[in-house]
Amino acid sequence: MGELRYFDNFSPVGDLIVVAICFVIMILLITSYVRKTKAYYIFLNIVAFLIAAALCDVIHHDLYTQITNGDYTSVYIFRLLYRAFLFSILFLFVVYIVTLQRLELDKKIPVMIVSSLIYVSAVIVDIVTCINGTGFHLNRDGTAVNGFSVFLYGYLGLVMVSIFLMLVFRKRLHKRVMLGFYGTITISFLILYIQKTHGQSSFTASTFLFPIIAMLYLIHVNPVNIELGSISIRALEDMVNYNFKHGHKLLFMSLYLPGFDVEGRTLPKELQDSIRRNSSQFFSDAVLFQVSYGHVVLVNRIDGNSNYSEKLKALLNAFEKEHQKYQNDYKIVIGASSDDVSRENEYVSIIKSIHRYMQLNEVHMVVQEDLTKYKEYKAILAALNSISHRHDPNDPRVQVYCQPVYNIMTKTYDTAEVLMRLDLPDIGLVYPDKFISIAEESGLINILTKIILHKTCTEIRKLTSEGYLFDRISVNISIVDLRQESFTSDIDWIIHTSGISSDKLALEITESQNEEEFKVIKSRINELKGRGITFYLDDFGTGYSNLERIMELPFDIIKFDRSLVNASSNDERSQMMVRSMANLFSQLQYAVLYEGIETDNDESRCINMSARYLQGYKYSHPVPITELRKFFSRKE
Ligand code: C2E
Ligand code: CA
Ligand code: CA
Repeated sequence: MGELRYFDNFSPVGDLIVVAICFVIMILLITSYVRKTKAYYIFLNIVAFLIAAALCDVIHHDLYTQITNGDYTSVYIFRLLYRAFLFSILFLFVVYIVTLQRLELDKKIPVMIVSSLIYVSAVIVDIVTCINGTGFHLNRDGTAVNGFSVFLYGYLGLVMVSIFLMLVFRKRLHKRVMLGFYGTITISFLILYIQKTHGQSSFTASTFLFPIIAMLYLIHVNPVNIELGSISIRALEDMVNYNFKHGHKLLFMSLYLPGFDVEGRTLPKELQDSIRRNSSQFFSDAVLFQVSYGHVVLVNRIDGNSNYSEKLKALLNAFEKEHQKYQNDYKIVIGASSDDVSRENEYVSIIKSIHRYMQLNEVHMVVQEDLTKYKEYKAILAALNSISHRHDPNDPRVQVYCQPVYNIMTKTYDTAEVLMRLDLPDIGLVYPDKFISIAEESGLINILTKIILHKTCTEIRKLTSEGYLFDRISVNISIVDLRQESFTSDIDWIIHTSGISSDKLALEITESQNEEEFKVIKSRINELKGRGITFYLDDFGTGYSNLERIMELPFDIIKFDRSLVNASSNDERSQMMVRSMANLFSQLQYAVLYEGIETDNDESRCINMSARYLQGYKYSHPVPITELRKFFSRKE
């Protein structure tokens, strides 16, 4: 062991920079939106320990230079503290990796026992060899004797445990994250080596900084979801762009779990584990992206996986097995990239649009038709947004069609139903089955309803002033409209400004299955009923009809759905059922309206089943509202 003045090969610069960088990291962590996971708190402790270690290193060298009486006790204490902090950091590295990898108890326990043993014995041996003089020692003249150094063994022992974990359980972490760790650890070793060959010791603490920066960048600030092994959806756009530019085809495998797609809700641990495991098992280079709480997309390059369809099959088989265990509802969408979609980077939107019409618990393979539907969906959504934005009650894109309704008692057409159409440039006439659900989902139905009500009331006003005789015209209302607090006052305003009598307007409402909503809807309907508006129960026979509930609401007319009209023509029993229901309703003073009357046979059958009103193609297809003049009679 050489004899040299202790501080000859030390400069505090390395440590001070470490302290400064650690504080910067702390500030960044506090000011950015990091997820406060268990790993995050371990990470914070590691940073704090590194600050403590670096400070102790500086302090013990500083004390050393000030001591003149040859009593170096305080130097020993801070030197021991310095090393104890470094051991603690190495030990916490192991805990951190174990946490990230979510090791099962039977794997975790031996790892923790081994690393605790190394940690505790390294600290104890360091203290003991310092006290009994066999370890590091300072002579009265200030020269240092290195003696037995446990540091190297403790350091290597804990680093080896970490590397062991990172190699054996590498599949448990995102591949790039692992590469990031391997890379930074290599740099640390390199610094240690260069330091050693130059007889330096100033940069020991800084070698602990590199894995810390890697953790900060790869795990905490980079939006990696450790539990799922996924990365944020933002990175998908980059991946798409990159592969599109380089002409690589991608395979998209989307898993949507609607039951868990709720803000703030995390997937149960066993599901997370299963997703993480299976998404790296079959495609070695697949990247998992998290779209929302219950939606992940696994993406990988097709050209890198020659037998990718085999792998896909294996993945789906594995999924099927897991599904039998957990039984969660799902929607799976699988498709390859295409240039058009890559150019616009719209994969997630397309997957979401497919979710709208695909069945639950089904695997949907994307076909050209899906892309066509998506284009249409996008155009409709854009038009709806534009209509909402313009907020013009006379917007020409909203068209009022009407279907006259035949009254059996008066043998005339004295009511009609309004059916909305959109007249869009480039697309033409769009029917409600294409746009009502989009409008409801995107919160744009209210403006459509206001426009259609305004236009209808204006036309009612014209028809009355021209002397046409009719009882009322009904407008379809969405449940979403009824939720709206301002709905009643909106209707008041429209009726008031158009100057019609409110009994000329009727509203058609479909049954809602939502118990909680029922109360709100009931009070809103009662308010409007008080204004003299007539209410129709729409689509009777399609939902889970609850007679008690129907009677709680002030309906005047029950519209029997077309499916009941059809059923009644098919067999005797169905006809009996429809007839007795219609009978019951008329005895309860409701008027029964049959929808979808197409033939003479439909007509005569329904007349014999307590019909009061008939509506259907037999009388007229929906026509522009101005054409109602052909059906209504007029004052002489
Ligand atoms: P709905 O209220 O059940 O309207 C009846 C639908 O059946 C209309 O389809 C009508 O054109 C069609 N129909 C009428 N007679 C016959 C027939 O004899 N045979 C057959 N097969 N069909 C017939 P449309 O216009 O496509 O409307 C579909 C649905 O869209 C409506 O069903 C209604 O729920 C909704 N809807 C229409 N306009 C509006 C609106 O302004 N607001 C809201 N919220 N929903 C609307
Ligand atoms: Ca209707
Ligand atoms: Ca219907």
